[in-house]
Amino acid sequence: MLRLDKKIIAIINQQTGNSNAITKYRKPLIGFASAHDPLFEQMKDIIGPHHLHPTELLAEAQTVIAFFLPFAETVVAANRKDPQIAREWAVAYIETNKLIETIGTELKKELAAHGIITVTQQATHNFNEQDLTAGWSHKSVAYVAGLGTFGLNHLLITAAGCAGRFGSTVISAKIPPSPRPTIENCHYLRDSKCQFCVSNCPTGALTIQGLDKKRCYAQLLDVDKQFPDLGLCDICGKCAVGPCASTIRLFSS
Ligand code: SF4
Ligand code: SF4
Repeated sequence: MLRLDKKIIAIINQQTGNSNAITKYRKPLIGFASAHDPLFEQMKDIIGPHHLHPTELLAEAQTVIAFFLPFAETVVAANRKDPQIAREWAVAYIETNKLIETIGTELKKELAAHGIITVTQQATHNFNEQDLTAGWSHKSVAYVAGLGTFGLNHLLITAAGCAGRFGSTVISAKIPPSPRPTIENCHYLRDSKCQFCVSNCPTGALTIQGLDKKRCYAQLLDVDKQFPDLGLCDICGKCAVGPCASTIRLFSS
């Protein structure tokens, strides 16, 4: 009998392991959410009515697959050390977006052979540049699928940290949902022991009070000009290279 979850995990691991990108990865994390989890409905209140319910992407939706591709420690270290934005981080962004598209295509092809329909949203640039709202947030979906908790940096911190990228796919087959974490992965939210992300934000967009999305996005567009050879490279990530970049254990007491 087909163990669908295992097949999906194998596809994502295989595509990541076989990637011929310059960027190296740690082991992907994969989670599953029921498309009928009440949190998807609540997202319309929490994020906004523009955020799509899985069934608005696929009427037959049963499960949402979420995955996290964590960057190798060398990529994290490069962006932590560089006073500007490290080229390694920029390359990782571009290459990982392509890898997420490849994984989506592969899942579609492999699952179609079993009569399963898939719908995948693009890895990034699926947001409104005026009000910076997105109809589908991969990291919010990953939260529902149990991959982590949100940190002071407004990123999803997984068991493998937050330095990496998320993808997600809606499918028409049922897979048992993954449990969600029961403790905060952010050291600030857990025991107030860290504010690295706030102090490392070069623009002041990130504060304890919240994230000024417009100020942050202005920085991303500035950084894009540093890498004209890479394509649209609106990145920064200085808030993603702290103690929660690759692990959630550094400050554990
Ligand atoms: S850098 Fe520290 S405070 Fe910021 S999100 Fe990570 S653990 Fe939380
Ligand atoms: S991406 Fe950069 S500018 Fe935006 S909040 Fe993080 S550190 Fe600040």
